[in-house]
Amino acid sequence: MGAGGGGREVGRYFTIDLHLHTNRGSADSNLSPADLIARARAIGIGAVCITEHDNAWNLNEIAAPAAEAGVICLRGMEVTTEMGHIGVFGLSEYVGGIYKLRELRKVVDKLGGVMIANHPFRYKLDPRFSFINPDHQAIDPSRPETAAKLEIFAVCDAVETLNGACSEEENQFALKVARHLGLAEVAGSDSHSQNSIGCVTTLLDEPIATERDLIDLIRARKTRAGRGLLNGEVARFELSD
Ligand SMILES: [Zn+2]
Ligand SMILES: [Zn+2]
Repeated sequence: MGAGGGGREVGRYFTIDLHLHTNRGSADSNLSPADLIARARAIGIGAVCITEHDNAWNLNEIAAPAAEAGVICLRGMEVTTEMGHIGVFGLSEYVGGIYKLRELRKVVDKLGGVMIANHPFRYKLDPRFSFINPDHQAIDPSRPETAAKLEIFAVCDAVETLNGACSEEENQFALKVARHLGLAEVAGSDSHSQNSIGCVTTLLDEPIATERDLIDLIRARKTRAGRGLLNGEVARFELSD
């Protein structure tokens, strides 16, 4: 009822949560793979990506329950680098030295993968938190064109413009920078527990089934960030001004 009216876009997009941690591979997560599958099925999301910190486990271990539940689980990794957290697809295991952003780029290029600047401005716009920034400098929120010159954006293929654990201001700023540079835009909940899965999602115009499909669409810049899946009103994440 009401389909097609009132700005509702449910069903128009294939939705993917591009950024999730489970307790199977991330010590800071409370989310079991079984609970992830159950929740993914319940909310009707298109696919979920398991992106553990600096490691990847073999998702064949959950292939049977995922298939039984009709849930597509894709593998990724969130690599900790000297320039922040990088979402990577195309990498099956941790490789020594990839904590350096440029080294990671070399490895990912060899494998034909993609790199995403995850939550690039988390805690970075507020001068009170500048002590936790690697460069000890708050970024000027009125100057996206200056932030766009940060090296991380020259090395990555995409920007996580919508992260479920970032503030609206941080996400909006990431979107401004991505638009300034013309980089691909993606979204991930960064869930470490069940309830936030799918709170934000990457939107695709067509369904996908594999990690390689996802890599191809990110490279082609055919992804968008969105939210609203959990209340049945999926919409693109756009600039507020
Ligand atoms: Zn992160
Ligand atoms: Zn994360």
